[in-house]
Amino acid sequence: MIPSVLPTYSRAPLSFVKGQGSWLFEADGRRFLDLGAGIAVNVLGHANPDLTAALTEQAGQLWHTSNLYEIPLQKALADKLVDATFADTVFFTNSGTEACELAIKMTRKYWFEKDQPGRVKIIAFDGSFHGRSAAGIAAAGSEKMTHGFGPLLPGFAHLAFDDLDALEAEMDETVAAVIIEPIQGEGGIRPLSDAYLQALRNACDAVGALLIFDEIQCGMGRTGKLFAHEWAKTTPDIMLVAKGIGGGFPLGAVLATENAASGMTAGTHGSTYGGNPLACAVGNAVMDIVATDEFLADVSRKAGAFRQKLEGLVDAQPEVFEAVRGSGLMLGLKCKVPNMDLINAAYENQLLIVPASDNVVRLLPALNITDDEISQAMKRLESTAKFVSKGLKQ
Ligand SMILES: *Cc1c(COP(=O)(O)O)cnc(C)c1O
Repeated sequence: MIPSVLPTYSRAPLSFVKGQGSWLFEADGRRFLDLGAGIAVNVLGHANPDLTAALTEQAGQLWHTSNLYEIPLQKALADKLVDATFADTVFFTNSGTEACELAIKMTRKYWFEKDQPGRVKIIAFDGSFHGRSAAGIAAAGSEKMTHGFGPLLPGFAHLAFDDLDALEAEMDETVAAVIIEPIQGEGGIRPLSDAYLQALRNACDAVGALLIFDEIQCGMGRTGKLFAHEWAKTTPDIMLVAKGIGGGFPLGAVLATENAASGMTAGTHGSTYGGNPLACAVGNAVMDIVATDEFLADVSRKAGAFRQKLEGLVDAQPEVFEAVRGSGLMLGLKCKVPNMDLINAAYENQLLIVPASDNVVRLLPALNITDDEISQAMKRLESTAKFVSKGLKQ
């Protein structure tokens, strides 16, 4: 008999009743150190007092009005995002997938308004992830996500990751846009070099194609910059944001330049919930904390120390690990043993880590994780690796 919850997930046999900072508690009081943060969502940890205050204060005032009316908190959050980025304008969604969906619609409409309605080709990359909608799976293009769901939304071409020659061969005036994660998340914490991102910007400019960065996982302070592409000193035309921006409240956004957004006039797109007062109260509180130089510098400082310790762990356990990957507090351990063996063993050490493709274990802690918690995480990772390594020798 089918379970009452549609069985599309394979869940770990764990269930939490309470969270505090980087810790999650089971009903029996067992405490887990959380290096997954709800898949890069809980950027300020669980039950953060500032976010809880923003949420409960707004909950007592006004939850939802629809976008039929002005929403001052939505405008305040959009202003903050515009001030802090390349963007001129912002549309709010409830999820990353919806942000991806709008980016694709915005691209289509852009070329339609430019009297080139046939210019629909969007270039995406092997190993990418852009969400689970019909457009999102067509964009990612992997067999794992598209199998059985055809016919797929047409117009997507897929190129090898980090291959500049392949890109240059494909770029011409039929290309409407290129969509790319500056650091692939689900694909296995695979960063692109600054040089590649800059070359990509130039290649798009040469043919007038729009450049879309999916920063749903790598953005909102995760790499020590507010957005990961800032490291490469380049900018997109459109950017997808979600996950961290709501700190656990469902919220996403599409940021765009005035030019890229020029086709999106009144009535061309909308959302019932997107950017409602409750979501934006939390989003503003997240931005006020994360988008400060001190906060981002602290992320970089902690990330540097964490990475160094992880490099030591990889050196000490060469049968278990191959390499450390990533940037800032978006870290991956490329494994030689099956990544799920490590993840399951980590549960025994009350440590939560997250799988990714390419046999990688992801570490995506809350950005306000403490130095002491990083030390505790290393101890738990070391005993997990030792346990798995011992199993290999038996
Ligand atoms: C999580 C994620 C998405 C999808 O976001 P949802 O909120 O799950 O719809 C899209 N792109 C990237 C890079 C992601 O990490």
